[in-house]
Amino acid sequence: MISPPVLKDQKKQTPGAAVRPWAGVRIFVLIDALGWSYLENREFLDDLLPHRQPLRTVLGFSSGAIPSILTGLTPAQNGHWNLFYLDPDNSPFRWLRYFLFLPDRLLDTRVTRKLLKEMGRRLLGLGPLFECSVTPRLLPWFNYVEKRNIYAAGGITGAPSIFDQLSTEGRPYHVYSYHRFSDAQALEQARRDLRRGGNGFYFLYLSEMDSLLHHYCLDPLKIDEKLRFYADELRKLFALARGIDPGASFTLFSDHGMTPIHARFDLLTPIEALRFSMPRDYLAVYDSTMARFWFFNDRARHAISGVLQESSCGRVLSDAELRGMGIYFEDARYGQLIYLLHPGWLLARSDFNGTGWNPIGMHGYHPDDPYSDGIFLSNCTPPVPLQTIADVYYRMREAK
Ligand SMILES: [Zn+2]
Repeated sequence: MISPPVLKDQKKQTPGAAVRPWAGVRIFVLIDALGWSYLENREFLDDLLPHRQPLRTVLGFSSGAIPSILTGLTPAQNGHWNLFYLDPDNSPFRWLRYFLFLPDRLLDTRVTRKLLKEMGRRLLGLGPLFECSVTPRLLPWFNYVEKRNIYAAGGITGAPSIFDQLSTEGRPYHVYSYHRFSDAQALEQARRDLRRGGNGFYFLYLSEMDSLLHHYCLDPLKIDEKLRFYADELRKLFALARGIDPGASFTLFSDHGMTPIHARFDLLTPIEALRFSMPRDYLAVYDSTMARFWFFNDRARHAISGVLQESSCGRVLSDAELRGMGIYFEDARYGQLIYLLHPGWLLARSDFNGTGWNPIGMHGYHPDDPYSDGIFLSNCTPPVPLQTIADVYYRMREAK
């Protein structure tokens, strides 16, 4: 007798929703950062996944790209773009204002950042993955978008995700992510659940390629080795699924690619040399490939904009461009001015990654950069060609 499927890493179904059994096996695998440029000239599951194409990413990082995949909507529509956004009235760190009299040597140390990280995770409701990647002195002005597990129902703040819809419809689903599993464990657990539960919707988020490509995107042997691991493991998963449902569907996709870094740029030094003060004159968050600014007086706006205009390593994005890319927010919560580095450049200093982080590959460039394209591989040809990563959502919706 087959026991009922064990549901992994997911919230409960909507109370009262009758369980609608699946008629087959639907497998969706997200491999973080596996860009089209790394697959287009390689053999990788070609026999099993004959439909192969690049997908245009969303400008930003996984924090913006994955919610787009899960909702089919742009960041401006679902509310998720970068992790930190300006929200002084509702900041979970408002109380830190009472400690701002402390000098930086006491306020911004490895120990205080670790303490804030643990508080964020355990006391302030910021989820188990919260990292203190904005200086503590500025945290009281910011809120954090990824408070919930985005791979569960209710995880996206501004729109229902595929998991909300499956829950509402009473369709059980299995999710495997780095919240609980390494890639090998996720694949193993999915196979175990397939054997036990059979038909169903399986969503695997495999995260380890991202870290590998950040450090080895120019090392074809390392990439081949990791791809061999994925190919072998997925082949076993697909064979098992086919044994249960000969019409099983397999879809493999990614959120963005990885661009080799060729130069670093120290943006902070010329901006700090202007001697404006945060948060009195302006606020800035420096991510790896972009800087986001909010201004509180015209002098700061004018002078900082001047430094950015003179820089040849990147450019300020116009409102029209932000609108076109689905990242224009009326209330400017993610920045009044967004400065984006050209592909291959990296900010030498940033809030996003701690000291000791020295990648040779990065993502978060303009989606026109060919290295930024994600992938879409499937054993079924979609009825309508896919354009962007958000289109993956519709493929998941249509899986019945
Ligand atoms: Zn990454």
